Parts: sequence; C-alpha cells; structure tokens
Amino acid sequence: MKTFEELGVAANIRKAIEEMGYENPMPVQEEVIPYLLGDTTDVIALAQTGTGKTAAFGLPVLQKIEIKENVPQALILCPTRELCLQIAGDLSDYSKYIDNLRVLPVYGGSSIESQIKSLKRGVQIIVATPGRLIDLINRKTVDLSNVKYVVLDEADEMLNMGFTESIDEILSKVPQGRQMLLFSATMPKEIAKITKKYMQSPKEITIGRKNEGSNNVKHVYYMVHAKDKYLALKRIADYYPNIYGIIFCRTRRETQEIADKLIQDGYNADSLHGDLSQAQRDYVMQKFRIHNIQLLVATDVAARGLDVDSLTHVINYGLPDDIESYTHRSGRTGRAGKTGTSISIVHVKEKGKIREIEKIINKKFEQGAIPSGEAICEKQLFNLVDRIEKVKVNEDEISNLLPSVYRKLDWLEKEDIIKRVVALEFNRLIDYYRDADEIETPSDRFSRDDKSYPRRKDRDRSDRSSGGRTAEKGYSRLFINIGRTDNVNPATLMGLVNDFVPEKVNIGRIDIMQNFSFFEVPDRDAQKVIKSMSRQEQNGRRISVEVAQGGGSGERSGSRGGFGASRSDRDRGPRRNSDFKSRSSSKPSDKSQRKGGRKPKFS
Ligand code: AMP
Repeated sequence: MKTFEELGVAANIRKAIEEMGYENPMPVQEEVIPYLLGDTTDVIALAQTGTGKTAAFGLPVLQKIEIKENVPQALILCPTRELCLQIAGDLSDYSKYIDNLRVLPVYGGSSIESQIKSLKRGVQIIVATPGRLIDLINRKTVDLSNVKYVVLDEADEMLNMGFTESIDEILSKVPQGRQMLLFSATMPKEIAKITKKYMQSPKEITIGRKNEGSNNVKHVYYMVHAKDKYLALKRIADYYPNIYGIIFCRTRRETQEIADKLIQDGYNADSLHGDLSQAQRDYVMQKFRIHNIQLLVATDVAARGLDVDSLTHVINYGLPDDIESYTHRSGRTGRAGKTGTSISIVHVKEKGKIREIEKIINKKFEQGAIPSGEAICEKQLFNLVDRIEKVKVNEDEISNLLPSVYRKLDWLEKEDIIKRVVALEFNRLIDYYRDADEIETPSDRFSRDDKSYPRRKDRDRSDRSSGGRTAEKGYSRLFINIGRTDNVNPATLMGLVNDFVPEKVNIGRIDIMQNFSFFEVPDRDAQKVIKSMSRQEQNGRRISVEVAQGGGSGERSGSRGGFGASRSDRDRGPRRNSDFKSRSSSKPSDKSQRKGGRKPKFS
C-alpha cells in the first residue's frame, strides 16, 4: 500500500487530511489519485459511498486548481443536495491549508440569488445538483468555459432521478479537452452511453464488492481514565450533532444509569434493557425507529430485537466481555450501503482487547482524540448554519408576522443579522466550554487507573505529575505538553515564555522530559503564564500549560471546584444541538486538549 505522499498528494493537503484522521489511502484513492494527478486520462470508477471516493477525486482536483484564476475550473455533479453539501464540506476540510480556494455548493431548495452572488464573487470549484445548475446556466450566471475537470458522482443515481437530459446539456457546455471522472455503483446501459459519448478511452476501476456491511464501518477507540468515561461519551455525542446511534453497556444497571444521566443532561436518549416490560421495550424501540430518540442506551440482548438500518454510530461504553459481541454490535451500523462508525470508549487495560478484536475483524482501529470544546463548538455551529440553510419555511403560517419582524430589524444589515443569529448559539457554547476541565488520555505505559505502580524510571512520565519534585519556595512548578520530541530545550522553552507572556517573568528550574516538560515561575506569575501560553501553537502543536500536580503552591488551572458549582452542575454537558437554549450558568468539567484542535471560525 502506498502513502498519500507516495501518491503525490501535496503537503498542505496531507496536513489537512492527517488532521482528519486519514492515515493511509483507501483502495479507491490509491487507484484513482495517480490518474487524476498524473495526466488527462478519463476514469470510470465503480465504487460506492463509504469507499472514500470523495477524497479520491477531491484531493487531486484541489491540488490541480489554479488559485490565481478565480473562475470555475472543476465541476462536480451529484444527485442530491445532501450529497452536494457533504462533498462541498469535505472539499473545504481538505483545503483547510490552501488559501483563497473557493468551493460553492449549488443545489435546489435554497436561495438562487445568494448562489449567483457567490458565483459573481468568483469560485474555482462548483459542486452542483444538475437541476439547479441548469437554472444557473439558463440565467447565464455561470460560466463553464474554463472547466478542466468534471466529476459525475453517483452517476447511476443521477440517471435514476431523471437527470439524463440535464447531464447531457451540462456536458455540452463544458470544453472538450476536460478530464472526466465518473463514479457509479452500477453500470447500466445509460451510463455506458454517457461514457461513450463524453469520455475518451476511459480507464475502468472497480473497487471491491459493494455494500459489504462491515467494510462500511470505521472502528475508532478513545482511551480515557475510567472516571472520565461518561464525560468522554458526552463530548463524542456533542461532536456529532446528528448522531443516531446505540450506546451499548454491559449490564442493565449501567444501561439505566447512563441513560438517566444523559436524559438529565438534556440529551435525547432512552434506555432498553431486560428490566423493562415488553410493552415498555416495544415503546422505546418504536420511538427510536422513528428517530424520536437520538441515542438509545442498550444491553446487547435487548438490542437484538431492534432492526434499524440507518445508525450513524454504535458506541461501546466499554468493550463487551465476549469479543464476538463486538462484531454484532459494530455490524449494526454501516448497513444498506451507508457508512457508520463503531466507537469504543475504553480504559487503558482494554488495549489488549482492541488488538484481539482487530485480529477477528481483520481491520485496524483508529485511536481518536476526544474533541476539544472548541472543535465541538465549531461543529455545532456549522450544524446550526446548515439547519438554517435547510429549514423548511412555512410561508403561510408566518406571513402575517413577518412585516413587523422586518420593520423591527430594518436598521440591521443582512450580515449583522446573520452574525447575531449565529452569536445567539455560539456565545452560549463558547462560554460553556471555555473553562471546562480537560479529559486526559492516559499513557499506554501507565495509567493511574492501573493498580500496578510504575517502575521508578517511568514515574516521572505519568502525565502532569510534578516529575517527582516540588517547586522552590515562592515558585509554582508548571507542566507544559511539549518536550524533547518537539525539539524543546531549556533555551527554547525560555524563548517561548518570553514570546507568549507579555510581561517579563523570572524562570526557575527547568526539566525537559521526552514528551513534556516542567518549569518553575514565581507564584504570582503562574496564572498569567498559564493563561498567556495555553492554546498558543509551537510547530503546529497546541500548547497546554498547567500547574503540575503536587508540584506547586498555585492551584491547578481549571481545577474542579473552581466555580463554586456543585459537581453535578459542573459535569453537566451541553444540551442537544436543537436544544441549547435552556442551559444553566453551570460550568462543565470536561475540557479536553485535542492536539491541533481547530479554533472556531466565528470567535
Ligand atoms: P466517502 O466514500 O467519500 O463518503 O468516505 C467515507 C468515509 O471514509 C468518510 O467518513 C471519510 O471521511 C472517510 N475516509 C475517506 N478517506 C479516508 C482515509 N484515507 N482514511 C480514513 N478515513 C477516510
């Protein structure tokens, strides 16, 4: 298997996809990327959603765009607006480190005027559903004369939906010399006709057998201390605002406990286990089937009676005792050609089990990083924006009220109104996560949950411990999450403190370890240093500074109990995406430090 680098993917794109967790190319990417990067060969790829095809065409197309030319150079056609938004979103993520690259989703059911405005401002990539694109062509608001790359995604689906003529018309407007790529799950006659008419000696690629349930499932584990399992669960649920999944617990009691906590914390959850009567179980299952419940907390046995095809996630709240059960649990997602993710929240001692499961399912797990508060805010915010875009407006119902609303907001520009709508949600979220405690990822070598005491030479490696020292009198010993691996030495560390802390600070003892370091500063300066340095970046890595445990006179930053709130208040997570309104002023207690976590764009 080749790496993305060996396939010729540029460094700035690799950086973005690495942050998204793409370590190695998926088969379709390995096959397709070299053709698109290499020459002008047309490609027909028989592959389905979930095989990684968006990146297969997206990465090379992004790489080949001439940023300086502010005209449409790539056209991606797809059947539905959901897919259109998904592709455009993925391309934006992949191009995080390409400045001035503009991708425009163009689809029916949303304001054509705003799409025309964006086209006038200039875009390089258009992702479109055929019908809306034809509208724009007819209004002469889109110029396809510079298009060099055309992708037809889910071509068979487009034809099923009656877009054959539209596709014909669109392709006749695109220059002859373009490179064309067609993705389809099947190869009906109509597709063959299109390929014959519009493609030149296309290369045909077939990616495995489609719709193999388990192949559509991504396996991810998050390793946390036992005490943080529930907080981690909430963060994961918050990070996927549209999650629709089953959370598997081992016992009936745990199932009920977790469901109760989630409900109390404002999540749309319920429980399913053997202590409920059959009538109760039927009722819960029915609510879940019709999506009235987003998160179902269940035991393995009780969930057997439930047949639902569209789960986005399965969450293992701890791994099952019987490893075979893992296969059954994870097989509940990624069905019917859809993709799914099987998430396991595990304790360090379960690492061995992960390896055993990998052998049985013949697939590697990815290790996930608990999303930071910022990443969650960003995700939730864009979900809000998405909902604003897609909301069905009931014109009749609100037409009477609208004139007075328009009058009231008349003094505000459109941009101001958008800012205010977004701020309504965003302020609350950012306040909520700002001061939350972090969720540590225990080191593989030693976890405080382990009963075994570390060997002496490992003792100073346990995260954030003071490295076995206490600070000089009047000084606080601070932990910083960079060390020798990051090329840090005492001089560079002092340089960083000077760079990031506005006033001069005396630095006492410095201890550089492999992956982290300690340094001492006067007590009075400790909080200032922590505040100024945390969240800064050093060689692309987010810095985290806090008082080393047991190592200083200052209080640990973001320590529990800091806000005078009760434990249960502070542990409360944010409400579900559509229900953020009524959050109390309580502070959560789970602030994670995801490496390279992205800053919200609307800060
Ligand atoms: P797609 O078929 O493009 O919808 O991709 C299916 C899923 O696989 C999406 O969640 C992608 O983010 C993910 N994905 C695509 N390529 C890779 C990769 N190389 N490594 C890990 N995940 C990937």
